Amino acid sequence: MRRGVLLTVALGLGLLALVVTLRWGVARVDALGRVRPFPVMAVGMPAAAAMLCAIPLIRHTQLEARLASVASELAGTQVTVRCETVGEAWLEAHPERGFVRFGADGVPERHAVITYDTCQDLASWVRSDHRGTTEDQVIAVHVLTHEAMHMRGLVNEASAECAAVQRDHRTARLLGASDDQAHDLTRGYLLSVYPRMPEEYRSVECAPGGSMDEQLEDSPWA
Ligand SMILES: [Zn+2]
Repeated sequence: MRRGVLLTVALGLGLLALVVTLRWGVARVDALGRVRPFPVMAVGMPAAAAMLCAIPLIRHTQLEARLASVASELAGTQVTVRCETVGEAWLEAHPERGFVRFGADGVPERHAVITYDTCQDLASWVRSDHRGTTEDQVIAVHVLTHEAMHMRGLVNEASAECAAVQRDHRTARLLGASDDQAHDLTRGYLLSVYPRMPEEYRSVECAPGGSMDEQLEDSPWA
């Protein structure tokens, strides 16, 4: 369901619960002078349903804020991150797990979009103890780093990918992993995912001593 619909339903149900409560409040005594009991069901049902609609919205917003704060740190500038909703996953299927649009001037926007499944993998990994990380979670963390590198200004895929490979450790740490866990995740991407990436994402220079090696102290080959 689209976020707008969920928000409208939550607000509508909340309003209904409020109206019923107010109506009871102004007419607590009936024509015969008897005190009317509080309409527990008429208020409780819509209030509970409103909460059920609001919880995924709140969690979604919290996750986006967390990802944006990590991506901003990596990009070196304030950026925003949006997770696609389940509805968008059905309606707007596209092959990439995340993307940053480039403006007419060729400069990447400071806004990234990440697919529903990738955000789910990020959310489950952030909530976990960061042990038993799945390959999908490794890739999801890397997608966040990769999109942050575009927002940092790198337009070329191989450059963004290599800069990301060297910063996955930082991303993992910012998302709550220990140093060892971040190291394992970074090595996992470099050794088993990077070699399978399409050619335009790879470069022989993305190696220790290569021209793309930024010699960061937490790079995967340090
Ligand atoms: Zn890219």
